[in-house]
Amino acid sequence: MMNGGDIAPSALVPDVPTSIAGYTPENYNLTYDGAVPAHKALARSLNIPAVKMLQTYGIDKFHFMLKQLGMTTLNRPPSFYGLALILGGAEGKLYDMVGIYASMARTLNHYNTNKTYYQNDLRRPEYMLADTKKKKKTATSKSQYYLNASAIWQTFDAMVEVSRPDEDQAWTLYSSSRKIAWKTGTSFGNRDGWAIGLTPKYVVGVWVGNADGEGRPNLTGVGAAAPLLFDIFNKLDYTGFFPKPYLDMVRVPVCHQSGFRASPICSDVDSTWIPKTCQRTAACPYHKLVHLDVSGRWQVTADCEPTEQMVHKPWFVLPPSMEWYYKQKNMFYVPLPAYREDCEKTLHTRKNMDFIYPKDFTKIFVPIEIDGKPGRVVFEVAHRKAGATVYWHLDDTYVGQTTDFHQMAFYPTQGLHTLTAVDENGESIKTSFEAVNK
Ligand SMILES: [Zn+2]
Repeated sequence: MMNGGDIAPSALVPDVPTSIAGYTPENYNLTYDGAVPAHKALARSLNIPAVKMLQTYGIDKFHFMLKQLGMTTLNRPPSFYGLALILGGAEGKLYDMVGIYASMARTLNHYNTNKTYYQNDLRRPEYMLADTKKKKKTATSKSQYYLNASAIWQTFDAMVEVSRPDEDQAWTLYSSSRKIAWKTGTSFGNRDGWAIGLTPKYVVGVWVGNADGEGRPNLTGVGAAAPLLFDIFNKLDYTGFFPKPYLDMVRVPVCHQSGFRASPICSDVDSTWIPKTCQRTAACPYHKLVHLDVSGRWQVTADCEPTEQMVHKPWFVLPPSMEWYYKQKNMFYVPLPAYREDCEKTLHTRKNMDFIYPKDFTKIFVPIEIDGKPGRVVFEVAHRKAGATVYWHLDDTYVGQTTDFHQMAFYPTQGLHTLTAVDENGESIKTSFEAVNK
């Protein structure tokens, strides 16, 4: 996405409950952060942000890119893999994977020394005997390339911070003494564990598993393959980490809170090097200019307060479903002040509510209970205001109300439904879904 100018490295990506056409990815630890910087989502191997990003990027494009880069095992069409393609939903060969990382490292190294791209930097690895005096491959000087140097560097840089899923701090020692970009993977059913790491000089790939493919509960990439990976790196000479390819980067103001390119109202701005292509990315969408009364405690509008008495202040505001989780993990996050009572009546447009589940149009699989009746499905709404009451309607029939914690269980019949939630101020949101009995 950085290569195509679709995302800045530190931009926040959503990490909220997600269901896309019946596909419900979960993070390894089954929690949600609300929003996470893209580079951290990669380092922490968060599944939901990855799926969200693939949905934006496009499965077809990603499938094509993996093939271009050297994955030889993608012999089914993109639709066969779907969004799971980014979570390891396809089989791959260690040989291909190591080859892809080596191609990326070669591209970056050549760019850093020669300031240009070579066509044959992207190629499959070759087996060689140690004593074979093979003619060194000369670079084809054709300025055709597939991935730009800065996108590669940003990716490797994010991979330095990789921590094991349960965030055992002892592991950070491995990467801090010697800066190594690395990533692990565990196959479905713990059949095998992987670890791939790289420096400008070496790419090391480790596969651990049983030859007959039998799974073991403790067989994970991080537990079984990564220790071997670091043992190997400790035996190899170390010549430092990849230098930043400044020529392919620009220094721009980046919003400290959102990680997007700063908009004119972002109040806290860092001067950051980002890939040149990322100059095209959208400016921060989360800083909004809010209008407060003189006390700064209440929001006001032109309908209830003379404009000359207002205080205009930029405020970092996430959409309600992201805010719900984000504020629990980010103490600095200050939700928007409420509207002053006399102003509340004049409001028509403010969005206080959002669906957490279901979101947009989606298929909902209704479990069948032992007695053969359709089981219940729990729906959820996030509301900005503490103590707010939400009234629930399924196909325009009132089904109940919730206060503070907005979860409601229904027994939807098979077919299309419309769910409407209305709060005590009359703000309403609507979503459609299709219930499918399993
Ligand atoms: Zn901002």
